[in-house]
Amino acid sequence: MNKIAEFGHSRYKGMYGFNVTVYKKDDGTIIVESGGKLKSTYNSFLDFIEDLINENPLWHTYYYVKVDEMYKLIVQKKLKDTLVYIFDCLNASAINSRNNWILGDTFMGMGNFAYNVMNEQMENSRIHYYIDDIQRKEIEPVKINQIWNGFCPECMLKNKNVKMRLNKNDFYECEESALQICVLSGVQAIIMNFRGKGDFKNEPRYSTDIENGEILSPQNYNGFPFNNPTEIFENTKDIVDYLKNIND
Ligand SMILES: [Zn+2]
Repeated sequence: MNKIAEFGHSRYKGMYGFNVTVYKKDDGTIIVESGGKLKSTYNSFLDFIEDLINENPLWHTYYYVKVDEMYKLIVQKKLKDTLVYIFDCLNASAINSRNNWILGDTFMGMGNFAYNVMNEQMENSRIHYYIDDIQRKEIEPVKINQIWNGFCPECMLKNKNVKMRLNKNDFYECEESALQICVLSGVQAIIMNFRGKGDFKNEPRYSTDIENGEILSPQNYNGFPFNNPTEIFENTKDIVDYLKNIND
């Protein structure tokens, strides 16, 4: 009797945390040890793996899997199907139920909710850091032109183009990070050292419609024109350093 596969349980404990060891007898019968969670014999490896997938919906999270070369393709195919299915389900639920979830009296768009949860998970999970590390190693850091293009410089450093909208203090405020810029038209775009509060003017006016070659500059003065004596950012590093000290 040959051992042909091992599945070491995932870090998701409880009912999904059972170990499985798979053997093949000389007559082709598949013998399975799973602490009683699965059948003890199957006619084929395919029958076994389909039953495993049924009984353990989190089978793709097994921490340690070792599979004989002969069955590698079956496992890969099933793993791919499972992962595609998970994303399809998530996508379908986010699209179909986008506007139909009401909890108590509170309307909660499922689409936004799913998006936010995924974002949060990405932020918190190791996947995020792996991606981050790879980016640091392989991708050139974003450089910002000293001449403002109307988008939020802080978000541009994260590879996102976010428009800035005029708020009631006459600053252009990023719709995502709330960074504020005071525009001295045609001269300077001064990044304020405190964030906005999303208190926009009713009539939307966007930075991308009015930018006129202003030079990105720091706030070094507390009253208008907020930049006195004249000082500009020399390079991206200056901007990055300045942004670290923005107050909320
Ligand atoms: Zn921003």
